[in-house]
Amino acid sequence: MRIYLDNAATTSLDPEVLDAMMPYLTEHFGNPSSIYSYGREARLAVEQARKTVARILHAHPAEIFFTSGGTESSNTAITAAVRDLGCKHIITSAIEHHATLHTVEYIDQQDEARVSYVKLLPNGHVDLEDLEKLLASTEEKTLVTLMHANNEIGNLLDMDAVGRLCKLYNAIFHSDTVQTVGHYPFNLRNTPVHFITGSGHKFHGPKGVGILYINENVRIRPLVHGGGQERNMRAGTENVYGIVGFAKALELADARYETDSRTIGALKRYMQEQLLSKIAGVSFNGDANGSSLYAVLNVSFPKTEKSEMLLFNLDIQHICASGGSACTSGADAGSHVIRAVNHNPNQIAVRFSFSRHNTREEIDRVVECLQSLL
Ligand code: PLP
Repeated sequence: MRIYLDNAATTSLDPEVLDAMMPYLTEHFGNPSSIYSYGREARLAVEQARKTVARILHAHPAEIFFTSGGTESSNTAITAAVRDLGCKHIITSAIEHHATLHTVEYIDQQDEARVSYVKLLPNGHVDLEDLEKLLASTEEKTLVTLMHANNEIGNLLDMDAVGRLCKLYNAIFHSDTVQTVGHYPFNLRNTPVHFITGSGHKFHGPKGVGILYINENVRIRPLVHGGGQERNMRAGTENVYGIVGFAKALELADARYETDSRTIGALKRYMQEQLLSKIAGVSFNGDANGSSLYAVLNVSFPKTEKSEMLLFNLDIQHICASGGSACTSGADAGSHVIRAVNHNPNQIAVRFSFSRHNTREEIDRVVECLQSLL
């Protein structure tokens, strides 16, 4: 029996989501752009899904665009802020996901905008005073791109505070919310943000489908050219079953929020207690007991010959965890996030991330296993 503790990388598909998707993989196979009944059925499903997503996030359906996932959504928002909204300066942080960091680096290399990296506090949170200093330091139109929750250490950003600062300095605000859409309630009507992103596979929905929220006051040009799908914003035949699955997964996550956040948060605390009492020298990266995702626990173990092989040895014991984001799982060069927040080279960081399918018994087995491996 495998123990899966890498839910920040991806989650299992909920059977109810699969049931909702199935008809669009079978009898309702029409192209939403076709005018006859097959097409109309598919169109209806896409527009119904858009309404569901908008209702849950408290946005307008016209503000929701379906994409292939978080990476495409962030690429679109950041590129559009520079090319269409006139941003010549980008403020970001060293601990963003590569979907943001590599996009920003590319824009910098192309000389389309210059980039500033905001300071981080010792607990990994964004230094809001430094953010304000950076915003005040230039007359240039600025894009602030800061993630709502860090996928490796779990730290949560105060989006309202950042949004208010952006408003004050007339900056555009994009937030990578891939780790929070489907995990926290959103009220986009009252959140001062121009772009947010979401990805179905992070909350028991399908892979390869996501959203980009674009505030109604913002007008951008499409990144993908072709047919006029997604109101001319994102060409390509819609991923109908993916879109239906995304909306269903979000609906289920929204309904289960109170229960799931409580039980998953309790598992995280339980694992912290067990690790502290049973393994010498453990510590937690980021702000684990403060403003942090209830589903992510990033643990540092003292570096030894044994702990350097920890992820590999956990895998042999059928325990799935990671060293950071999915692209840094397994044997790797280390995580850019951990390097930015924890300067101790004598530690090995492992991210454990939970879902409602995990149990205390599993945590007990993992801690026991860690005791024997370290
Ligand atoms: N941003 C964050 C914070 C993530 O954790 C991920 C996960 O992979 C992404 C962006 C990319 O999303 P996707 O896999 O949908 O492209």
